[in-house]
Amino acid sequence: MAALSDSIQARLRELADTFTAELPSRMQDIADSARRTLSDGEGIEELRMLRHHTHKLAGSAATFGFHLVTSCSKRLEHLLDAVIEQGDSPDESQRHDIRMLVSELAEAARVNRAETTSATSTASRAADKDEHAEVEELEELVDAGEPGERVGAAGRPGAEERRVVIVLLRSLEAGQMLGDRFSFYGFETTVLGDPVDLIGSLCPDCHTALVMDVDYIERDPTIAEDLHALVSSSQGRLHIVYVSDRDDFTTRLLAVRTAGTAFFSSPLDVTRVIDAVDGVTSGGAGEPYHIMIVDDDAEQVSYYALLLQRAGMITSVVSEPRQLFAVLIESKPDLILMDMYMPGCSGPELATMIRQQEAFVGVPIVFLSVETDEDKQFEAVSRGGDGFLCKPIRPEHLVTAVANRVERTRSMRFFMERDSLTGLLNHTHLMENLSNEVQRAERVGRPLCFVMIDIDHFKRVNDTFGHLTGDRVLKTLARLLTERLRKTDVIGRYGGEEFGVVMFNVDVENATRIINAIREDFSAIEHEAGERRFSTTFSAGIAAFPAFDGPGPISEAADRALYLAKEKGRNRVVPL
Ligand code: GH3
Ligand code: MG
Ligand code: MG
Repeated sequence: MAALSDSIQARLRELADTFTAELPSRMQDIADSARRTLSDGEGIEELRMLRHHTHKLAGSAATFGFHLVTSCSKRLEHLLDAVIEQGDSPDESQRHDIRMLVSELAEAARVNRAETTSATSTASRAADKDEHAEVEELEELVDAGEPGERVGAAGRPGAEERRVVIVLLRSLEAGQMLGDRFSFYGFETTVLGDPVDLIGSLCPDCHTALVMDVDYIERDPTIAEDLHALVSSSQGRLHIVYVSDRDDFTTRLLAVRTAGTAFFSSPLDVTRVIDAVDGVTSGGAGEPYHIMIVDDDAEQVSYYALLLQRAGMITSVVSEPRQLFAVLIESKPDLILMDMYMPGCSGPELATMIRQQEAFVGVPIVFLSVETDEDKQFEAVSRGGDGFLCKPIRPEHLVTAVANRVERTRSMRFFMERDSLTGLLNHTHLMENLSNEVQRAERVGRPLCFVMIDIDHFKRVNDTFGHLTGDRVLKTLARLLTERLRKTDVIGRYGGEEFGVVMFNVDVENATRIINAIREDFSAIEHEAGERRFSTTFSAGIAAFPAFDGPGPISEAADRALYLAKEKGRNRVVPL
């Protein structure tokens, strides 16, 4: 464990220390502002300023575990809210209460600060669990992980991690056939003939899918118990996909109760089973979540940024509301974590401004604030926010809340941008990507290839084996392309049985070689149609940047090359 977690712990303590050190001067600001508020002739602006200082203090104090200060400043904040709302100067009793609360707050700050500075070691802080709850939660989180390892809901494996499938069907032969298909797509596959071998074949560190017949748990309840225990102790690494001859309520319920992630009934649609296993074993690996934090308080921003970074997320920070849009355009966050009150502009106002711009309509905005008034929370959420989190918040709750929202938003976006049959980019987004990638190639002076692929005589497949079988062939090709091309290649369904691939930083020779290898493998696949088996081929045309300049000319050239490939007899790749 070392460097990273040590440095995070050090940074964390630094933040808490900075807050502690600055507390007296913050208290002075509040006292000065209160004095000006209470002196005659000062208007509502000073009152707002005092409220602002108080609110900020409540937020930081909650974050760093100064609970006395938090509760005192919240009471003062509520009182100030009431005064501001009445739109008049505070009356005599309110002035008295303000004075009392400010002095109570000063006392609370002294007490909390004395406690903290005397507790210099982690051990003595740990003894005072309540007082520093949030900071310790983070330390625990830090301690739990290896350097660089991600934790929490966003703690996902890298793409290169092993993916393991264990198949246990009642028919060993059927299991073997299914296993072969999994191996073909790069899974490490074990086919079992008996449940007694199950436990021994599990790999505790891998993302594993167990594809198993429900019959086994029905016959032997101890297997069900074992599986339950294994899944719950696997930290999301073991998933069970049940298959069964039956498709009734009782069987499906049994599967769900025995920790089943997915359920398929016979006859098995192998492609769908592979899709399901693919989904659970990839662990959602992909781009790290990008979170933008909007808050005018530097320490709190650092604290929350650190928390999210520790969970593997990327953060960008806006402490001046006027800079928000510049950062938003540049960083394209998955989610915005927004403070409620900032000088010059409130969180809900910012949320409304963001929502008024079409490009940002879909970015989730979550408020993070000490605000406990439910009406205000409701108002914030109804003005374009997607949720409200209260400070102080336990680190893992923050990480989970943020990660869950990002995940949902991403999967919604997935369905908007993707073709529902193959999961590849749809035509519009494929072409949009081509256009962006050509611009990028131009900017950085790199080559780029656009490949158009069209399945040969596909109409015959449909006519001979039916449309459903045709669909399966399309999915098989989509999967093969996804499996064999780089993560950075953009793959889309151009339309019908045509696919498009954008390969950045690849020249025509290499693109031709890569697509040719995929063509050979595709032609070797045996597709099933009931009892019958058949294979099929594709033709491809390739055009490159800078030989063709601009997305229009490149896609037209690739189309011409594809036409040539068909003309020359199909089942070949033609570069232009
Ligand atoms: P060629 O080698 O010249 O490309 O011949 P082809 O038969 O593949 O080309 P053609 O354009 O004549 O036919 C394409 C067929 O693809 C016709 C259409 O029914 C089928 N198709 C398009 N989209 C889908 C789909 O989503 N599912 C299925 N099953 N078939 C589709
Ligand atoms: Mg075709
Ligand atoms: Mg076609």
